[in-house]
Amino acid sequence: MSATFDVLDPADGAVLATLPDLGVAEATEMLETAVAGQAAWAATAPRERGEILRRAFDLVTSRADEFARLISLEMGKPLAEARGEVAYGAEFLRWFSEEAVRIEGSWLTAPAGGSRLLTMKKPVGPVLLITPWNFPLAMATRKIGPAIAAGCTMIVKPAELTPLTTIEFAKVLAEAGLPDGVLQVLTTTHAKETTAALMADARLRKVSFTGSTAVGKALVAQSAGNLQRLSMELGGNAPFLVFDDANLDAAVDGAMLAKMRNMGEACTSANRFLVQAGVAEQFASKMAERMGALRVGRGQDDGVEVGPLITGKAVAGVKGLVDDALAAGARRLCGGEPDGNFFPPTVLVDVPADARISREEIFGPVAPITVFPSGDAGEAEALRLANDTEYGLASYVYTRDIGRVLRISEGLQFGMVGVNTGLVSNPAAPFGGVKASGFGREGGFTGIEEYLDTTYVGLAAD
Ligand code: ADP
Repeated sequence: MSATFDVLDPADGAVLATLPDLGVAEATEMLETAVAGQAAWAATAPRERGEILRRAFDLVTSRADEFARLISLEMGKPLAEARGEVAYGAEFLRWFSEEAVRIEGSWLTAPAGGSRLLTMKKPVGPVLLITPWNFPLAMATRKIGPAIAAGCTMIVKPAELTPLTTIEFAKVLAEAGLPDGVLQVLTTTHAKETTAALMADARLRKVSFTGSTAVGKALVAQSAGNLQRLSMELGGNAPFLVFDDANLDAAVDGAMLAKMRNMGEACTSANRFLVQAGVAEQFASKMAERMGALRVGRGQDDGVEVGPLITGKAVAGVKGLVDDALAAGARRLCGGEPDGNFFPPTVLVDVPADARISREEIFGPVAPITVFPSGDAGEAEALRLANDTEYGLASYVYTRDIGRVLRISEGLQFGMVGVNTGLVSNPAAPFGGVKASGFGREGGFTGIEEYLDTTYVGLAAD
């Protein structure tokens, strides 16, 4: 094996590390190992698997600063946010350490009497976990945690842009007692070829993927050959609704969090601000003030609040959306031209609903604001605009009217609704989407189900 690839600092393109660029042959060997180890790993005591996860939680937590620095270096986010990711990512380990010992079955007397209907849960088998670059630790622990708890062996393929955190985390798992071969890390720039080869083998039983909708669709099609089970966490286009009766300062705080966490490079990121006419001007000017004051710079520097975007290509994409909106009649309240990979936080108003920025995932620090009418008719219009997207991951609403909270949260076609909060991600909650945002849920009580099959035993009382 001679090929390698470089991992770059998104701030300046400096080489952070050079890694082996593995191919189909190595991926296939990893699958052999995963298949060979599956039965023994599935047979371990649930408490043993839980304790490994619990020790991993303690280790990651005790090394939070080291992990935060590595995440910040390879992904670009400010250190404070990287620490937040470490805390969030570690919680999946603690949560699933607790879930490992709560895998239940059931017992039912058949309705006609006689036989008993028993169910048990078994690990689905060897799994492939494909993660994106935006949360290098949390996207890994969110999949690895339940896979370990359930008793699956796994191949983890981190994004080629940010594989270093996953490599360090794999070392932590080994230190925590994870047996050899249960988890293998596939570092590669050949995502398509290696994934296709792995999925062509019927012994791989599941793929959990977080990434773009386009790649997700290709994987869904590819799973048909061997009917692998799937979890698909794909793109988003989150609406952020602010009604006239909202606590405006709280709404602005929530908007800043929902927009600027991860520089806007999150699938839950607020993409479309829909604001009722009575508060629209005030909301826009407060947002422009807050966004315009953010300090942009290298993630590791003191006081920096907005790091670089991940690549030049990402910067060009965000700039293209802003330019298109401006050409379509939007006004820019703050922002400007990017400098290298650093994109200035931008607020746009008068954004037409058919501008590309209203339809496509921005993945950058840009807040487009659209106004909807005051009064009761406004609520229906807000809901219509919010649902007018192919995506359905996160959504947010600020209002103090309890009836509206019910109507809106029931009417929003999204997997997650934040009410008076700009942050929905929580390891104890089911994270996932509908429509083009995919299917399956990560975290919460159902998160482990993605890694379990149900076997039913009909037992006759003879
Ligand atoms: P993004 O646009 O955010 O980088 P991608 O969907 O391209 O999202 O990438 C998410 C993850 O999917 C990364 O780990 C990437 O390497 C991987 N990936 C990209 N293309 C494929 C593919 N054809 N098959 C399997 N994995 C892929």
